[in-house]
Amino acid sequence: SLTAGIVGLPNVGKSTLFNAITQAGAEAANYPFATIDPNVGIVEVPDERLNKLTELVKPKKTVPTAFEFTDIAGIVKGASKGEGLGNQFLSHIRQVDAICQVVRCFVDENITHVSGKVDPIDDIEIINLELILADLETVNKRFQRVEKLARQKDKEAVIEHDILVTLKEGLESERPVRALEFTDEQWKIVKGLHLLTSKPTLYVANVSEDEVADPDSNENVQKVRDYAAKENAEVIVVCAKIEEEISELDPEEKDMFLDDLGITESGLDKLIKASYSLLGLATYFTAGEQEVRAWTFRKGIKAPQAAGIIHTDFERGFIRAETVSYSDLVDAGSMGHAREKGKVRLEGKEYIVQDGDVIHFRFNV
Ligand code: GDP
Repeated sequence: SLTAGIVGLPNVGKSTLFNAITQAGAEAANYPFATIDPNVGIVEVPDERLNKLTELVKPKKTVPTAFEFTDIAGIVKGASKGEGLGNQFLSHIRQVDAICQVVRCFVDENITHVSGKVDPIDDIEIINLELILADLETVNKRFQRVEKLARQKDKEAVIEHDILVTLKEGLESERPVRALEFTDEQWKIVKGLHLLTSKPTLYVANVSEDEVADPDSNENVQKVRDYAAKENAEVIVVCAKIEEEISELDPEEKDMFLDDLGITESGLDKLIKASYSLLGLATYFTAGEQEVRAWTFRKGIKAPQAAGIIHTDFERGFIRAETVSYSDLVDAGSMGHAREKGKVRLEGKEYIVQDGDVIHFRFNV
């Protein structure tokens, strides 16, 4: 399954945030196949629609879908020089599908900062530079191989050569690959190079306890927002310390606590949702008397593959998907009414599943 890696300089609040993630943790019984890697934290994906469907269908059990974060510890500065721990750090980043970079925006004299002062843009650039240098090395190696073929007018090599030139120029002027411009066709080739700075990225601005209700009063947050906007990246504001406290509360206490803080949604919940959509993930539902359940799928897949997420037999024996959109179902008030109003569609093998679809799969065994 897809995972988002959490990175950041030392003392920015990574462990605190990752603690919150593992403590908030998904109910293990629901996800028996989940990894037991201590660096992986599995969280349930908050989804209001699931609560609404539960009210409507009144099942015996409700099961949210889950999402994985990976804690990427390790030294950052000098990583691209390829020594020991630095090398490991880069290879861990290579394995994740998206990057959440924690940036320290809280000021606390008692907590040392590696550079001696809190400067979020400096911090971001230290990490990004290591990743850019590592990518540049990958691109240069590739260049040597492709150049010869391109000179011989090999068609594919000529196309890739042009892309490599753009990549090299961009990286040399310290721009991450995700901020460069390519056509869709070219992107496919860029993706194949598995460059670190081509991974979707979001910045997690870690603010202090008294700033969560009004994060933009923190000028460091403003700076991160401006920086992120230039590379079309998203910014999520959290207070890691508060998230750690929240993760110990039950749902009712959590709501009261958030109320007291003057916020409607926890930073972690925002982070989970943002990471999920950053990875191009979406949710469909199954809704029966036994169980109402959310399932994660990759946007763009067709009905049989979506069925296969529940069970391989469902994909192999797929006949059709009885589908109603979440909003049509809620408008109708019940599955029966939705059917009467003609809102339940019979979809076949070519149907591209949509976020929020409520599906009943028909299949042969
Ligand atoms: P890491 O090295 O990035 O994993 O950072 P840690 O999570 O260990 O945090 C470093 C220090 O900063 C610890 O003493 C934390 O308690 C503190 N810290 C982390 N998040 C916050 C926060 O939101 N507010 C404040 N005041 N301190 C924090």
